[in-house]
Amino acid sequence: MVKTEREYREDICKIGQLVFQKGWVAANDGNITIRLDAERILATPTGVCKGMMQCDDLIIVDRKGNKISGRAERTSEIAMHTTIYDMRPDIKSVVHAHPPVATGFATAGKGLNLALLPEVIIGLGCVPLAGYGLPGTPELTEPMLPLIPKYDALLMANHGAVCYGEDVFKAYFKMETMEHFARISLVAELLGGAKALPRLEVDKLLDSRTRYGVKAKSSGEPGCPLASDDPSYGGAAGGSVGEERFYVTRSELIALVDEAMKARGVA
Ligand SMILES: [Zn+2]
Repeated sequence: MVKTEREYREDICKIGQLVFQKGWVAANDGNITIRLDAERILATPTGVCKGMMQCDDLIIVDRKGNKISGRAERTSEIAMHTTIYDMRPDIKSVVHAHPPVATGFATAGKGLNLALLPEVIIGLGCVPLAGYGLPGTPELTEPMLPLIPKYDALLMANHGAVCYGEDVFKAYFKMETMEHFARISLVAELLGGAKALPRLEVDKLLDSRTRYGVKAKSSGEPGCPLASDDPSYGGAAGGSVGEERFYVTRSELIALVDEAMKARGVA
């Protein structure tokens, strides 16, 4: 059933509150949009805390991001939303925020690209990192262009993340899955490094998507998600290693170097 514009406004305010309560935005960060029809997009305006919006605060913009109606001004990041709608006719809603753990990965120059968790592999495939682009300029969306057709969740270097779906709830849940994945990945890194699943298991999970009714775009691009037996696993952007990692103390390292030098007759 098609919702009324009022209902869509209420949906955006509800998601805005969730995004704010989760701590994925500070002050007036982030923006949420819903495609109302072929010509109109309902959007959060600039300068409003997403947790404290009223339904009437929202504005309507056209396909190019120009304001059609509403009191407040449009966000400088509206082009990111219109670009996603232009490239993906299947997408009806876009959620952009700065969830701290995922944004931490984006700030460290790391994508969430390892094949670690079944739900993430089925739902998102992986979350690649788009290069940095100055907000409010076309540079913001440029690094995302090759990724938008293939993925439903992107990290934005030194900025945040964007997720999109068939409705605003699906877009929101993708961001929730992504941030949860980022938290688990961080804990795994602290415990000595995440261990990816092998390709055979990853392919089984990707094949099971139809069974779960998942219409994810990412279909197991080479390296996204990266399996433990993929050739580039050792040099993964996600920061994990394929070879076994071991640690030595400073004195053990000196002893090893001494030994090697003695064996070569240098020392
Ligand atoms: Zn932003």
